[in-house]
Amino acid sequence: MVRIATRHEAAMTWKDDELCPKIKKLLKSISKDTICCKAYMSRPGEYEIHEGKSHFPLSLNNKLCSCGAWQISGIPCRHAMRAMVHAKIDPHSVVSTWYSVRTYKYSYSFSINPIPDKNQWPAYDNLPTVMPPTIKRGIGRPCRNRRREEGEDEKGKKAKTVKCTKYQSNAAKAVKASQKKAAQDQAKKAKTSQSTEVSVSQSQPQNTS
Ligand SMILES: [Zn+2]
Repeated sequence: MVRIATRHEAAMTWKDDELCPKIKKLLKSISKDTICCKAYMSRPGEYEIHEGKSHFPLSLNNKLCSCGAWQISGIPCRHAMRAMVHAKIDPHSVVSTWYSVRTYKYSYSFSINPIPDKNQWPAYDNLPTVMPPTIKRGIGRPCRNRRREEGEDEKGKKAKTVKCTKYQSNAAKAVKASQKKAAQDQAKKAKTSQSTEVSVSQSQPQNTS
């Protein structure tokens, strides 16, 4: 209540189109840190910022810096500030609307009903004390197993493994092909052995008694 009232009152004197005073101050301190950065433009709105040995790709068009601070906070980081100095862009214009005075005023425009302190509460001395209900123990042993979710495996059941159908089919094909080849080779071998046996038996002279 106090916070809402004081902040709402403080914001009354601020201009709607501006940023909140704290953010303005923060932008000033960030702009001081840009001294250690150098901006190199690759094309309009796209930069590479050098800071010591580190290089940061930066996009003014998409409001992105590879350090991550700009996109998280909505306030341009020192790298972005350096690029904006090069591109002659006012940093105040790219700060997120979260930090505008209009948003601040909207946040504290709601009211809370005033409440008296504890000493002013009405006294209720003669009220009966309400005790918690007595716990009745159920029949049989209490269940110690956890209730499982719908579709969850039972305790001790192995989890199902998901296999790639494409891989499976390829593997099955490969196995079938190898089996077929082995059978063909065996049949060939059997044929050749049979033919050699026949030729040997034909070439042997017959014993005539
Ligand atoms: Zn940055």
